[in-house]
Amino acid sequence: MSGDERILIAGGGPVGVVTALALAQRGFPVTVFESEPDISDAPRAATTHPATLELLADLGLIDDVIRLGLTARKFQFRDRPSGALVAEFDHETLRQDTRFPLVVQCEQHKLARLALDRLRALPDAEVHFSARVAAVDAHAGNVGVTVETPGGRKKFRGAFLVGADGGRSTVRKSVGIQFEGYTFPERFVVLTTRFDFEAERGYCYRNYFSDPDEWANLFKVAGDDGRGQWRVVFPTRREESDDEALSDAGVQGRLQRFFPKPKPYEVVHRNLYKAHQRVAATFRKGRVLLAGDAAHVNNPIGGLGLNCGIHDGVELAERLARFRDGQGGEEELDLYDRRRRPLNIEFVQSQTVNNKKRLEEKDPAVRAANFEQLRATAADPARHRQFLLRTSLIESVRKAALIV
Ligand SMILES: Cc1cc2nc3c(=O)[nH]c(=O)nc-3n(C[C@H](O)[C@H](O)[C@H](O)COP(=O)(O)OP(=O)(O)OC[C@H]3O[C@@H](n4cnc5c(N)ncnc54)[C@H](O)[C@@H]3O)c2cc1C
Repeated sequence: MSGDERILIAGGGPVGVVTALALAQRGFPVTVFESEPDISDAPRAATTHPATLELLADLGLIDDVIRLGLTARKFQFRDRPSGALVAEFDHETLRQDTRFPLVVQCEQHKLARLALDRLRALPDAEVHFSARVAAVDAHAGNVGVTVETPGGRKKFRGAFLVGADGGRSTVRKSVGIQFEGYTFPERFVVLTTRFDFEAERGYCYRNYFSDPDEWANLFKVAGDDGRGQWRVVFPTRREESDDEALSDAGVQGRLQRFFPKPKPYEVVHRNLYKAHQRVAATFRKGRVLLAGDAAHVNNPIGGLGLNCGIHDGVELAERLARFRDGQGGEEELDLYDRRRRPLNIEFVQSQTVNNKKRLEEKDPAVRAANFEQLRATAADPARHRQFLLRTSLIESVRKAALIV
């Protein structure tokens, strides 16, 4: 790399700041542009899998992530109509495979803030809020961005640009990379309540409910005050309007059908999300690299999207460092795309699509067969471990090393 080695990063979401931290720790000067005035605390990712915990440990974030999150060793599949437990999986089975045989439920805004604090303590790391990357000007030798700020439009230049600006990525669109895939017709409602599903119903911190009429996911997170909150995720009905889904009647109706109780639920947040399965046609175009949701989006069942984005960011920092240090040429940068894109398709797209199909299956015979398969997998120690190696992304990390 010649001249200024600065890496520009569009997007101060969790992937943007973790990528910036990974780069800054390798000695790169970095500049992050975030369009919003602060880190968003919308309730999205929390589930952080073993392979990702290992990366966060290498970045020096693991103790804080565990401290601010909740440890969830097990997860359960249930049949919602009967309430029956179908299968339980225990990460302890992975003790020989990982330093972290557990999942940590740590909300993504906490992770982003932790990474941001670490980043700010490093030399030559700049972070601009209320700074929207509006245009990209990529050349063979460097890349420029035009950024909209409260003080007007400003131009910045760097050696590379990382597009970590989310599913609607301006960077991806600016360089003409297609976002192939589809959007689900239904939306996903996320309701957050303080009702204690562990005390009242014996549920663990991660639960997946199969139901031909309305599947559900239920998770516990610590919340900002550490008192604990439960998030329930449901699909909307196709004909249901957004207003209806978010109305008091809609929200209470859903929660009461899920678990009836005499008093109304105390609902802390109500949010609605569109869900997609899309992958960018390439993760690299010249000096522009895509990471996180800018490169791939998926439905949240299985909690894989952000995890995969963190793996992108760490891989990208390694490839750029090798390129800078003369340990490889352009092929180092191409390797980023050759590894991350197929791994996203094989491990994240396929698992999340299958997870959704399994939960929403309507055919009674297929449902019964799915349940039997889950039971048999959980009951057999070798299959139990194999299943978790995949869900925890450990298998994807092992496979990455084989793509050279
Ligand atoms: C309900 C729900 C639950 C989920 N649960 C999980 C889970 O448990 N585990 C998991 O791994 N994943 C989960 N996900 C997915 C996860 O939330 C996303 O994968 C994650 O947010 C991606 O992070 P990101 O930084 O790539 O993108 P984002 O979080 O979208 O951040 C992008 C940032 O870029 C900024 N930005 C946008 N445009 C510009 C621009 N032009 N210039 C500058 N800044 C810009 C945005 O303001 C934003 O801050 C869930 C998603 C949903 C909806």
